[in-house]
Amino acid sequence: MSNSAVATKVSSKDVQCPYCKQATSIEMPENYAPVYRYCTSCNAKFIVERLAIGLQILKPEEAPCDSDPDCRDIEMGDSDEQ
Ligand SMILES: [Zn+2]
Repeated sequence: MSNSAVATKVSSKDVQCPYCKQATSIEMPENYAPVYRYCTSCNAKFIVERLAIGLQILKPEEAPCDSDPDCRDIEMGDSDEQ
């Protein structure tokens, strides 16, 4: 057991880019809200959503509104008006 690499608060994780399929290291989201992350290989933007177990990686154009940070912002802003 080696904990030498976990000194920082933000943990990173290796995931597979949905575009170029290369492994890329991302910062773990702090909570269960979806976040945008960028591939270090092809620079594409993709969505990372933390699940109860593991992570879900989505292309923004294929993600449901619920899993899209921008879409969620818009919906939440609208509901404030009522
Ligand atoms: Zn990529």
